[in-house]
Amino acid sequence: MALLEIRNVVKRFGDFTAVNGVSISVEAGEFFTLLGPSGCGKTTLLRMLAGFEQPDAGQILLDGQDVSTVPPEKRPVHTVFQSYALFPHMTVRDNIAFPLKMAKWPADKLQAQVDELLEDVRLTQFGARFPHELSGGQRQRVAIARALVDRPRLLLLDEPLSALDAKLREQMQIELIDLQKEVGVTFVYVTHDQGEALALSHRIAVMNAGKVEQLDIPETIYSYPNNRFVADFIGQCNVLASEIVALHGDGTMTIAINGCGEMKALARDGLTVGQKGWFSMRPEKIKLDRELPGGVDGEAHFKGRVHDCLYLGDVTIYIVEVGDGVKIEAMLPNSAPGLAKLFDDDDPVEITWRYDAGSFL
Ligand code: ATP
Repeated sequence: MALLEIRNVVKRFGDFTAVNGVSISVEAGEFFTLLGPSGCGKTTLLRMLAGFEQPDAGQILLDGQDVSTVPPEKRPVHTVFQSYALFPHMTVRDNIAFPLKMAKWPADKLQAQVDELLEDVRLTQFGARFPHELSGGQRQRVAIARALVDRPRLLLLDEPLSALDAKLREQMQIELIDLQKEVGVTFVYVTHDQGEALALSHRIAVMNAGKVEQLDIPETIYSYPNNRFVADFIGQCNVLASEIVALHGDGTMTIAINGCGEMKALARDGLTVGQKGWFSMRPEKIKLDRELPGGVDGEAHFKGRVHDCLYLGDVTIYIVEVGDGVKIEAMLPNSAPGLAKLFDDDDPVEITWRYDAGSFL
């Protein structure tokens, strides 16, 4: 049985539907992320999991129990907000101890539990400080420790790192992964930052306009987006107009990509010959060579010309023009010794990619 079952949940504000029939199962111990642009409904869904809002339709089950209308304080669920929401007049230790005091834990057990949490978030030395004497990252660690101190079944995190600068955010991401592994509490994390979602999560639900567009592990969401929205939202992607020419029995097909010619690609159920769509592919899956006599079986292979080079230090992005003014972005590591840039403007190049490097949308 899943720890959390969201079944066909709908939430309306007046005649606006913020969450429109969402179903998600989250397993115990999972780090699960709701990812999507501003206004897609992820915070509204999280607020329903916390009990701050009630669904207009559908159910939320926790450990098999319907908690859809159970008030927040009666759920074994805590939320960490972007704004920390610490008590400013209490020390770090008292902030963390607060939920246990409310639950009337005996003093010795309470102190031992707070000590353990202080250690988990590496703040043992800071127990006597007040929130204003801490950095942003340390304050967020106190907020997380306080939310975990009575071992909830579910910890909800609403953009908890977005107030921190980029370097600190990356450090906190590593700490969050370690902390979640250590305490084993199930995390449901909300963010609009794709990089953060890919780095942290066991699984991601990509949301748009109140619905889940794709739910999968980060690697699949990134490499095989199942529609145009996901392909465009997550990272850089080539999205090329294409048409299915033939379907083969072995899970592959032949597609014609505008300006590039015909090539093999992965097929899936429900496709038909003649169907038009988009072929999506990540820039780092493309290879460029100066000269490449002959092709490799299962690889797309055609010619182009470098139109622009964007040197980014670790990688260079080459914008390559193929037939009919179609442009393809290829990202190549600058791993060779020396200045390492491989091509210049106007260089003729041979373009290749493996048949399973992209997906037909
Ligand atoms: P963000 O990242 O900007 O917080 P989000 O994906 O979390 O976006 P929600 O906060 O869930 O989005 O909001 C979804 C939609 O519902 C938005 O259009 C928002 O304006 C609307 N909405 C949210 N709460 C209310 C409310 N209490 N009354 C009316 N509309 C609301």
